Amino acid sequence: MSTSDVLHRQLDRRLPTVVSGSGPYLVDDEGRRYLDASGGAAVSCLGHDHPRVVEAIARQASRVAFAHTSMLTNAPMEELAHRLIDAAPPGIARVAFLSGGSEAVEAALKLARQYFMEIGQPERRYVIARHQSYHGNTLGALSVSGHAARRAFYAPFLAQNVAHIPPCYAYRHQAPDETPEAYGLRAADALEAKILELGAGTVAAFIAEPIVGATLGAVPAVPGYFRRVREICDRHGVLFIADEVMCGMGRSGTLFAMEQEGAVPDLITVAKGLAAGYQPLGALLVGQRIVEAIAAGSGALAHGHTYMGHAIACAAGVAVFDAIREEGLLHNVRRLGGLLEDGLRARFGQHPHVGDIRGRGLLWALELVESRDDKRPFPRAARLHAAFKETAMRHGLICYPSGGTADGLEGDHVLLAPPYNAEPAHIEEIVELVGKALSTVLSAQL
Ligand code: PLP
Repeated sequence: MSTSDVLHRQLDRRLPTVVSGSGPYLVDDEGRRYLDASGGAAVSCLGHDHPRVVEAIARQASRVAFAHTSMLTNAPMEELAHRLIDAAPPGIARVAFLSGGSEAVEAALKLARQYFMEIGQPERRYVIARHQSYHGNTLGALSVSGHAARRAFYAPFLAQNVAHIPPCYAYRHQAPDETPEAYGLRAADALEAKILELGAGTVAAFIAEPIVGATLGAVPAVPGYFRRVREICDRHGVLFIADEVMCGMGRSGTLFAMEQEGAVPDLITVAKGLAAGYQPLGALLVGQRIVEAIAAGSGALAHGHTYMGHAIACAAGVAVFDAIREEGLLHNVRRLGGLLEDGLRARFGQHPHVGDIRGRGLLWALELVESRDDKRPFPRAARLHAAFKETAMRHGLICYPSGGTADGLEGDHVLLAPPYNAEPAHIEEIVELVGKALSTVLSAQL
């Protein structure tokens, strides 16, 4: 039992204390070094000691840290908004800054509802989301999340105006005789069926992760899925929210993952990589027509938090953004992502307990199964992902395994999200350590 006074996420174990970070490595107070192959939960995209970000934080802290953004604006917030709008898909007009991913998702859901109130469509009250998704842990974000384990305790508190459709998850849902394109259309058409079931004119928004992260592990949609989603949303006047909290800010190889999908969302949430873990920061990018509707209507956001647009957090965001641009890191993500994919496929492509290897950019995952032939997962009770996480740490590797957390059939998975400025040698080391951890875990399991 831990002697800590902190209410840790797990009360039954003592965690190592981190004391320093350098590049992709973290060091604990007993001198153990960990290769952080997932940036925690796909957060630390610039490693742990990027001088430009550290300096930007110190500089801003020495000028002014906090001034309430309903009374005063600040330069880092304005600069970061400007950079994001410049880089965002066409039609995105303004940015609101929050303190993390869940807050960004809350703001997106509330803004979608506010939009329809402003334009005189109060009957639009439903949100459609997907099973096996994760959009955050606050009650609104959890209401749209299809994460059965995280929802379980809170079911009576969750919003009732949410419906879920299956995700686009080719490994398990694409039929053997179906092309990826045909599967993508079929998967997207579930959205239209749900809109019609709820009643056309009653749905405000559809929310989806362009690459499913925490619940399934780095699952991109098949080509054409999001184009069809966009068409369906347009046909029924539904807003499309792309939750890029995990896959945005370069993680996919482009700044926004949706750039690769040929469809422009109405609202985009980002967080994690936005300030690369140096500060808590999230953002909501908002489409022109929503901004115009509010400007022509009530003239004010009906939503807000004390720390919105915090100057130090936004200063970190500006420095991260400039580092990604000026250090050519999107190119690096694609190059290192190719190396990671090759390494994983070479090492685990024929592994009897690795059912699927998937991802994009520098967001990759292995799905672990008891049997490759019928894709049967390991029994839930074995909690393979939890064992993997602990074993990997013993081997000096931090990764982000999960599994058995959703309400559909899926295996345990191991999520990898190395920093954009890693070296090829780090990628080799990650593959090597994943291999060691996997052998250790499986030999205890089988
Ligand atoms: N949305 C997605 C896609 C996420 O992956 C996460 C966190 O993992 C969230 C929202 C919630 O973000 P946060 O934990 O910063 O509140």
